Amino acid sequence: MTTEFADRHIGPGRDDERRMLATVGHASIDELMDAAIPEVIRWHGRLDLPEPTGEHETLTELRALAARNSVAVSMIGLGYHGTYTPAVIRRNVLENPAWYTAYTPYQPEISQGRLEALLNFQTMVSDLTGLATANASMLDEGTAAAEAMTLARRASKSSSPVYVVDADALPQTIAVITGRAEPLGIEVRVLDLTVQALPAEFFGLHLQYPGASGAVRDHTALVAAAHEVGALVTVAADLLALTLLRPPGRIGADIAAGTTQRFGVPMGFGGPHAGYLAVRAGLERMLPGRLVGVSRDSAGDPAYRLALQTREQHIRREKATSNICTAQVLLAVMAGMYAVYHGPDGLRAIATRTHERAVRLAAGLRAGGVDIADVPFFDTVTATVPGRAAQVVADAAARGVNLRLVDDDRVGMSCDETTTPGHLAAVWAAFGVDGVDDTVTAMLSDGLRRTDDILTHPVFRSHHCETAMLRYLRRLADFDYALDRGMIPLGSCTMKLNATTEMEPVSWAEFAHIHPFAPAGQTVGYREMIGQLEGWLAEVTGYDAVSVQPNAGSQGELAGLLAIRAYHRDRGEGHRDVCLIPSSAHGTNAASAVMAGMRVVVVGCDDDGNVDLVDLDAEIDRHRDALAAIMVTYPSTHGVYETGIASLCAKVHDAGGQVYVDGANLNALVGFAKPGRFGADVSHLNLHKTFCIPHGGGGPGVGPVAVRAHLAPFLPGDPGGAPVDGRAAISAARYGSAGILPIPWVYLRMMGADGLARATGVAVLAANYVAARLREHFPVLYAGNKGLVAHECILDLRPVTKATGVSVDDVAKRLIDYGFHAPTMSFPVAGTLMVEPTESEDLAELDRFCDAMIAIRAEIDEVAAGRWPAGDNPLANAPHTAAMMAGDEWPHPYPRSVAGYPGGVDRAGKYWPPVRRVDGGYGDRNLVCSCPSPQAYES
Ligand SMILES: *Cc1c(COP(=O)(O)O)cnc(C)c1O
Repeated sequence: MTTEFADRHIGPGRDDERRMLATVGHASIDELMDAAIPEVIRWHGRLDLPEPTGEHETLTELRALAARNSVAVSMIGLGYHGTYTPAVIRRNVLENPAWYTAYTPYQPEISQGRLEALLNFQTMVSDLTGLATANASMLDEGTAAAEAMTLARRASKSSSPVYVVDADALPQTIAVITGRAEPLGIEVRVLDLTVQALPAEFFGLHLQYPGASGAVRDHTALVAAAHEVGALVTVAADLLALTLLRPPGRIGADIAAGTTQRFGVPMGFGGPHAGYLAVRAGLERMLPGRLVGVSRDSAGDPAYRLALQTREQHIRREKATSNICTAQVLLAVMAGMYAVYHGPDGLRAIATRTHERAVRLAAGLRAGGVDIADVPFFDTVTATVPGRAAQVVADAAARGVNLRLVDDDRVGMSCDETTTPGHLAAVWAAFGVDGVDDTVTAMLSDGLRRTDDILTHPVFRSHHCETAMLRYLRRLADFDYALDRGMIPLGSCTMKLNATTEMEPVSWAEFAHIHPFAPAGQTVGYREMIGQLEGWLAEVTGYDAVSVQPNAGSQGELAGLLAIRAYHRDRGEGHRDVCLIPSSAHGTNAASAVMAGMRVVVVGCDDDGNVDLVDLDAEIDRHRDALAAIMVTYPSTHGVYETGIASLCAKVHDAGGQVYVDGANLNALVGFAKPGRFGADVSHLNLHKTFCIPHGGGGPGVGPVAVRAHLAPFLPGDPGGAPVDGRAAISAARYGSAGILPIPWVYLRMMGADGLARATGVAVLAANYVAARLREHFPVLYAGNKGLVAHECILDLRPVTKATGVSVDDVAKRLIDYGFHAPTMSFPVAGTLMVEPTESEDLAELDRFCDAMIAIRAEIDEVAAGRWPAGDNPLANAPHTAAMMAGDEWPHPYPRSVAGYPGGVDRAGKYWPPVRRVDGGYGDRNLVCSCPSPQAYES
């Protein structure tokens, strides 16, 4: 028996299950799984997990864990600050499934709401940094700074391997940069630029603004000196400070990087929050990550879509600008909306108040005789108290305020929008001074101050009353299609239920308001929860150790490959640098291998879509002595349980290589096979796929890395602690996006061993059901044992396209008219659709999807038969908008009802896309990546 929650998580009921089994031709799920999964990898045990509890009991248990955290006032700073999430944003974005269950906006017609929200984010970043183009979020400040370093490497004409980092940079940023640099042969030199000179040659310079110490320095001369030798300059800047300070763009910086956390996103013990990256004109085509741009639709109206995708890993693979895929969309939306809600005056007021608190704090300390460095500052001051720092920090903690212990002699403290006079009094008391109470005003000199207007676009000046804000959020959410409307059958992306019970703890103060460097005594509950989660994930995967630090699948890949690299070096085999990757692999795999300093060698696939074992033998022979690893996805990206996996692992091991199994497809394995047991050495998992963290419109994610014991010593290091040899920090916080780890914890706790296994079984059943129903209408490209697929199936549209000209794009867009999000398009095979229904869709929704696909097939036949012209038919013109339907003229050779209400569509609940088919190429040729002027919308 499974629990009540498993029955709610799994869509099909027992009767549905029987009907689906009958269609697929198997008597039971067990029998189906026996037939589908090769015996060589099959695991026959029962997962050793706690017996599942119901929704209410689970939250009670988690509350008890949360209660073991203590929420203190944080003045630690270092890029993580207290902030008030406006309630209208918390409830209507963070806690609203219309935003959090959406997918990455690859289908722009159904994503205009989040694309507009991201364009606001980009506009905000580019405006505040004073640079031309900003992308739609990085994973955190540390990784954004590391991406800035590799961008500088690509763009600089200098051949020097040296990257200079100012010693006043955030320590965790230095840790992440150093970890990224080493495998790429980049030599990081950390210099105190207030006293040390720049080297003669270097390709890039990283400056912090304001510095970790709080100092606001005029970097103009350093920027000029760097440009002199052909180096690029990154300024890691605090966006709140930039509302008052001269922006990086004005001092000649090429790149700005940082975080937008303090724009209304809780600290969450390290994440998730949106990092940012902005570049000056001329560098936009080298920018990593997703970039939203303005284009036009087929009626010529403005429409948003992702721009310049040819930079990205899913197209460029090992030649991509970075491996970033899942980013931090939900948090970027929140930060952008924080700026929309407060507007320029509101943000400046928050910044000014924050600054004045810090000025008062410093004045009180100075009045009491405490030594405060005589440098301009924004929100952070550093006090020198010889030999007394630890005692002051402990005293403040006892008063409920966390300060930063810099070293034995120095204490750092940062103010933010939540700092109160009471907090200042507590700090003064901890230092043993009385403080002063006279009001002081801002102290920034004119030379440092910003003189231009900020956030001039009307979007930042129109939604300041709550009614307007509420309606703006609702309007954008209504533009989009997310899981709260219907199925998103995306192969490889596992868009399953994100249960409300799983989501609720994310907003709890005990999880939301903890600084990543809070004293260990305040994070007992967090660490216990994370320990349990890591243990459960180890049990599920059959590995020995797990780190949740990587904050996306791509980062898990990098962490895993770096572990392999460190392992080989540790054994004196550091020359092993070849990574074999099948041609069907996800784009992140190849991009990650390059970042880990490996050479990518592609292995072909055979006609059945399996890794070609003959080609594999040949490549192993060719690279035997240099073989570091193979990276394979299991089940394969073709959605098939390959039988050759065990022998593949053995062959690579025999040649001295390690086996990396990309675990993004774990939804097909949980409870039935364990990668750590069938021969793999390391995997990353995607908690935002298999383990119910919602996709957020393109992030957040968590990509834990799981390893066998021999790789455990090489798991990610602690970016906030002392560097440990061979352990690179992968993200800026030790537990990465800790704030969303309650979601998979609750999921696993409520599902239990049997619930999880049944979920896997039903996911595989659903994929085979869809394959069985659609096979006679569209060929199913690959199948494994007994003609079965795993948890997804590829529908081959190439024959249809060849015969009729109707493309995979046409079908994807036509599905919108039928009320669906398209399946994954042209991955892993161009011209195909990959469908992953997951266990969470009930039979009615599966049938609705199959019926739509069958109806579309009949429409294609009409085109083939010449009844509708090739260029003017319901497929070519899809999606149809309400505006089109209501047009006074109807020039098309098919009726309006066929256009807008094709077979079976619920007329009352019909979803209308706000724009017609978007022309991506136009926007790439005419690149616009910030909010267009309102006049652009006048027709
Ligand atoms: C999603 C996915 C990844 C990348 O994960 P991100 O979290 O988007 O970085 C890697 N491999 C496969 C097979 C995937 O489906």
